[in-house]
Amino acid sequence: MSEQDEARVVQAVEKRLFIDGKWVDAAEGRTFDVTDPATGKTLCAVADASPQDGRAALDAAVAAQPEFAAMPPRARADILTRSFQLLHERIDDLALLMTLEMGKPLAEARGEIIYAAEFFRHFAEEAVRIDGGYQTAPAGGSRFLITRQPVGPCLLITPWNFPMAMGTRKLGPAIAAGCTSVIKPAPQTPLSMLALMDILAEAGLPPGVVNCITVTDAGPVMEPLIRSGLARKLSFTGSTQVGRLLLEQCAEKILRTSLELGGNAPFIVFDDADLDEAVEGAIAAKMRNMGEACTAANRIYVQSSVIDEFGRRLAERMAALPVGRGAEPGVTVGPLIDKAALNKVETLVADAVDRGAIVLTGGQAPGGDGYFYPPTVLKGVPREATMCDQEIFGPVAPLTPFETEEEVIAAANDTEYGLVSYVFTNDLRRAVRVAEALESGMVGLNQGVVSNPAAPFGGIKQSGLGREGGSVGIDEFLEIKYIGIKV
Ligand code: NAP
Repeated sequence: MSEQDEARVVQAVEKRLFIDGKWVDAAEGRTFDVTDPATGKTLCAVADASPQDGRAALDAAVAAQPEFAAMPPRARADILTRSFQLLHERIDDLALLMTLEMGKPLAEARGEIIYAAEFFRHFAEEAVRIDGGYQTAPAGGSRFLITRQPVGPCLLITPWNFPMAMGTRKLGPAIAAGCTSVIKPAPQTPLSMLALMDILAEAGLPPGVVNCITVTDAGPVMEPLIRSGLARKLSFTGSTQVGRLLLEQCAEKILRTSLELGGNAPFIVFDDADLDEAVEGAIAAKMRNMGEACTAANRIYVQSSVIDEFGRRLAERMAALPVGRGAEPGVTVGPLIDKAALNKVETLVADAVDRGAIVLTGGQAPGGDGYFYPPTVLKGVPREATMCDQEIFGPVAPLTPFETEEEVIAAANDTEYGLVSYVFTNDLRRAVRVAEALESGMVGLNQGVVSNPAAPFGGIKQSGLGREGGSVGIDEFLEIKYIGIKV
């Protein structure tokens, strides 16, 4: 990709707010800059919504709701299918755009567009299978008709780490169910979602069904919308801290809530595992998105008899990963999202080393332009290290030894989070025992990636509420209604 391509894809994106099917400037005329994390340079400026803009977007969603709910499921499915196709047709430009605003390597950005599009295909298929029930009352004399209806206008808030997929994972089921929405992407990465608005409109989505607002100060814009009572649902993906705050705000009008929050994934390697497979699994679970993923392996527990060999092989693989600007060919590790993210990773590594961890590879930011941190492996990370309690959100693999199955299950569950766990073992009985004992919504068994649009993604404990994807993903956007019929 040339510099001209980069300029062209940024230029092509609308930088205003998408409200009621139209592109509009922010009411107060404010904008904010979007930065390339690989260079620290400004890519462009986008509209900075005010509370007034937020309200206009929600009003549009509310006005569009009755007609959209009445649209035949097949018509909603067709819009999603066409959007799926357009995402594929434009994959090169969309991937480059994502790399520029977020930093992930081009190959990963392409992978995310495919993953994101798949939510539209999956939910196009679900849209026409929304079922109900019919039943005779146990005592006779009446019948129960059970139907499922769209929840109503939704507020959708997404993070910066998967700028397209975290949006389509919400928009797919919302559109399939017949819900209208206001979506607010993260200010670091608004461009992918703005590009998606054009695709949805081109695919035939009626005005007002999806509205997109970009904003730097989310609280004052979103809180009045949450508290207005006009929206019926909040679906949020982001940190546990913000999720907790939004859940409190939702309490006032008892909004339906779906929360996809932070993680602290344990990655467990038993001594009977295939070590090559476990190393590749660790690379996948740790290095996807430079470690900036809620599903990232955050604590790697390795049975003590194999930890030296595992550590050696992992460090060798990690050290060989090319780091650089995501748009450059061959790069597999891009920059972190911003300076604060880089500072956090540096602090967490320094803390672990202070507490006795040994650096097997990496461990030192190169300095210079962009927010780069090298793939790093630490051995002997003690429980007291701060990184055992916090999301590292960077390319750092902390290894901790363990002796017994009971000990590692207790260690793995010793966290407020419960999103995903990974287990590597060739013992079937142990695999089942451990997978059942782990307190997480998902388990990767001998595999380092669990995300799949056709599977129910989500966490327990303080990692969230509800599920996205799978056959249950659409339920989050449907209300059950029971109609009692006297016969
Ligand atoms: P974040 O700081 O919680 O922000 C997420 C989104 O919420 C952003 O759009 C943010 O906008 C917005 N936001 C923040 N405060 C808000 C408020 N008071 N009212 C309304 N909106 C508000 O998280 P992040 O740093 O973007 O993303 C990383 C986090 O997301 C990690 O914890 C990661 O584990 C989690 N995550 C979870 C999943 C999952 O599926 N479980 C997937 C991806 C990421 P501003 O930036 O403008 O505040």
